[in-house]
Amino acid sequence: NTDSVDPANLDAYSKKHFPLCMRHMHDVLRAEHHHKHQARLTYGLFLKGIGLLYEDAVRFWRDEFTKKMDSGKFEKSYLYNIKHQYGKVGRMLNYTPYSCMKIILTNVGPGEHHGCPFRNWDPNFIKQKLVEGGISNENANEIKELASGGHCQVACGKYFEYSHGKAAANGINHPNQYFEESVNLEK
Ligand code: SF4
Repeated sequence: NTDSVDPANLDAYSKKHFPLCMRHMHDVLRAEHHHKHQARLTYGLFLKGIGLLYEDAVRFWRDEFTKKMDSGKFEKSYLYNIKHQYGKVGRMLNYTPYSCMKIILTNVGPGEHHGCPFRNWDPNFIKQKLVEGGISNENANEIKELASGGHCQVACGKYFEYSHGKAAANGINHPNQYFEESVNLEK
């Protein structure tokens, strides 16, 4: 399957092609080896949408989670979740990745990481992260102002534009669309 994603490429992809919401969840997973339910679901479905196959998804999540727990606990408490995302258990539904609107409107509690950074992060923290990621001070200020004004998807679109040197064709409505437009710019 030429459209599948090799899990070994996820670190590089996350830096180049993921929107900030997904990049953040990827980084937190690598650093903390854990995610609460909503982040597992939101990030897991995004990964499925970019072409991570079921077997690779199991390996990816297991490798991280078992840095902090034994594999028995992983199998017992978390494997079902992944099966569920891929429609292998439960009502066998083919769950689709979440849109920006859904992610933006989801409540994010303490210790949770599944929201839209442009909505949930402190504006100064947004700016800091953008500048760390190579966005100029001036452009980071513009994005910070858009986010402060509640224009999350516009802010995300500007982030796409400034990190790719080209605007996304149709604005940003979905994290998977962000990914696809980013990858397509390389083709
Ligand atoms: Fe993610 Fe959408 Fe927010 Fe961008 S606007 S960070 S793609 S939820």
